[in-house]
Amino acid sequence: MIGTRVSELLRVVHENPDITRADAARTVGIGTGAATELVARLTAAELISERPAGPAGRGRPTTVLQPHPRGPLVLAVAFAHETWRAEVVQLGGQVVACDGDEQMAGAYGDGERILHEVQGRLTKLRRRFRGRIRGMGVSVPGLVAMDRLIEASTLGWSGLDLSVLWPKAPVMAVGNDATFAASAESRRGAAVGAAMALHIRVDAGLGGALVESGRVLTGAVGLGGEFGHVPFAGDDVECPCGARGCWGASLDGFALARLLGQPVPADPVAYARRVVASEGGTERQAVELVASRLGRGIAGLVNAVDPELVTVGGLGVDYLNAASRALDDAYLAGLMAFRRADPPPVLAAQLLEGGPVAGAAEEAWTRLWPLLPT
Ligand SMILES: [Zn+2]
Repeated sequence: MIGTRVSELLRVVHENPDITRADAARTVGIGTGAATELVARLTAAELISERPAGPAGRGRPTTVLQPHPRGPLVLAVAFAHETWRAEVVQLGGQVVACDGDEQMAGAYGDGERILHEVQGRLTKLRRRFRGRIRGMGVSVPGLVAMDRLIEASTLGWSGLDLSVLWPKAPVMAVGNDATFAASAESRRGAAVGAAMALHIRVDAGLGGALVESGRVLTGAVGLGGEFGHVPFAGDDVECPCGARGCWGASLDGFALARLLGQPVPADPVAYARRVVASEGGTERQAVELVASRLGRGIAGLVNAVDPELVTVGGLGVDYLNAASRALDDAYLAGLMAFRRADPPPVLAAQLLEGGPVAGAAEEAWTRLWPLLPT
């Protein structure tokens, strides 16, 4: 019981930076006496600290709960198609150090070497914080099951054991970038508080996740959320996954290039952004077409899973901003009629490109709560 309350209070402090002790007690559902005792315990364990709440308003004076200056941290790493980034994150979500943000030269097909290089850099980062880093989250743009990367086709990586990044990590959360972006959006972004949120991230591939009251539904082994491979497209589209008619392959940078009769782009995301930014009439039409395909597919998923709201990240935000009318029209037309009067809103993600790394940190924290010693 006490263990549950400890994890619950830490989670509440984490999700509500600068929450007062009185509000935290109310949220956890305990009395002021029990809260005072619990906070004293967590302070003694160097997990949180307190400061005066400033000029008191009504009621008794209280304190603000904040991360302890020697408190636990998590390390979050996100691999993208050409770069990697690491962040050290404290309770409450604030980033206290970072590394990376650089090109991974020759990364294609050579995942083991890249992991080895990144592992060296992460070890330095961990040493710098002298044992305060208690867990790690790793985001990768590919299929992940049981902490192994099954395949990242755009990186030419497969069968990699990502735990080599920190072999004896007390806590390790490995996941797909779109799934982690969904987690972050529900904890820190536009989907906070939603009973059921659907996140769709368009990048070199299309993925996402359903998040129920802050918990990401990842399926039996973690492979859920591959919405890009739902066959919403015509079966003339051949997807790198081996199936035909995949939704993601009908609206990504490669699809735009096909629509415009241009060569296969080396970097489909950068290419798509250039097309979106273009002033040309044909480009504009192509962007409206892929935006409408996005809207129509979202309608199909909304009909199927009944989310409270939908957040769209990555390249989806560019489509949403550039062709919101086309996207909205297709979304409404694809919804079952009874939903059209009050459709779940389709919102731009707030965390943008920072979603996957922020989600990696959040998933590491989630696994860490029950293990923090008090
Ligand atoms: Zn596919």
